[in-house]
Amino acid sequence: MPNLYFGGKFYQKGASRLSDTLEVSSVLNRQDLEDDYEACRELGKSLYFREEVYPKSKRDGLSLLLWASRHGDPEAKYYIGLFLLSGVLKSVRADSKEAGLAELCQSANSGFLQARRFLNQYCLKEYTKTVSDGIPVSSTAGPLVDFDGNRIHIDCSGILTPIDAKLTYENGCNILTFCVNLALLSTEQGITDIDAFMRAVRNGMEDWAGHYEVFGGQKLEVRVEITTEHRAYDNVYILPFTNDVRETAAEAFDKYHTEKAKKLVDDILTSKRSAAGVGMRKWSTKSRKWILIQSQSGRFDEYEEIRAVAKHEFGHALGLGDLYCSDSDGLAGVEKGVYKELDSFYIYNKSYNLVMCDHHGPISNNDIEMVVLAFSQNKMQNYQPRKMKGTISDALGKGN
Ligand SMILES: [Zn+2]
Repeated sequence: MPNLYFGGKFYQKGASRLSDTLEVSSVLNRQDLEDDYEACRELGKSLYFREEVYPKSKRDGLSLLLWASRHGDPEAKYYIGLFLLSGVLKSVRADSKEAGLAELCQSANSGFLQARRFLNQYCLKEYTKTVSDGIPVSSTAGPLVDFDGNRIHIDCSGILTPIDAKLTYENGCNILTFCVNLALLSTEQGITDIDAFMRAVRNGMEDWAGHYEVFGGQKLEVRVEITTEHRAYDNVYILPFTNDVRETAAEAFDKYHTEKAKKLVDDILTSKRSAAGVGMRKWSTKSRKWILIQSQSGRFDEYEEIRAVAKHEFGHALGLGDLYCSDSDGLAGVEKGVYKELDSFYIYNKSYNLVMCDHHGPISNNDIEMVVLAFSQNKMQNYQPRKMKGTISDALGKGN
């Protein structure tokens, strides 16, 4: 029985490492697919997943998928990633799990949504396994308490708090409700469809809603209620960074601000990074909150991307800092192995697949625990210290 060996990287489970590249290239030549990776992947899929199982066609299918994956086809990378994780394929050189995650990350980062969805679920599952390990899950329902058993109170409302937050205990359920009124600051130039843009922003913020477990396994439902009424104040401001805004900002910074501030703005402008801000003061429940969103196309029509960016930036508005793996932006970085709450999300290429590191990443129980602390203690929660100073959130290092 011929063995599958492809480009020295992977081989089929149970196979020896002898080369079978001849057979692979004969498949490719026969189909004349060598340069058409999409067609290569499609044929690979149909051969691999066909109902009647012919070992030969399964192998050919796998070869075609490997070929397409090695040439960067995101969907093929997704399948190869899954095969490596499930043991259908083994990596010769690297740990198969790591290699599988690498393929999946590359696929997800190229925008293949199924890979992103899979990765997020995979990380959350790993996280539940490691973090809940050894931690007694509180089965007794009751009002939410912190690590020391003290009842948590959150009741921020009124015109001075741009994000209203209220923790209630009703019918045996703890519910944390955020109410936000959005105001769009825009000259309306350069945005393809303002309603669609705002919907994407709104969806990104609503992505924080859901059911979580915090402070030793206590259940907490998070609700996000968003309105877009006309109000003179008490808003969270959404600022799409159009060319007009860009010019005005650059001008203003030229005139009034220090070199350091100008450099920061230049940096944001050139890297087209989005940002969230809290006015001139540090974060508190009463600080001003705005979310600046940039667009790679300049038309603000990359709705999936805008939604993900809004999700990350809303995390800042909720009082969370950024999470980096290594030293950047004046932050020290969190290396793998420091907090078990974060480790399950550290997957590939020095990146945490978590919302405050990668805006496509999921929101974890620990993130919500940090948001609860931000609002109950009226204090921003950090994953990492600013260089030499700044405190780290109490939520880290304690499990859930
Ligand atoms: Zn950020």
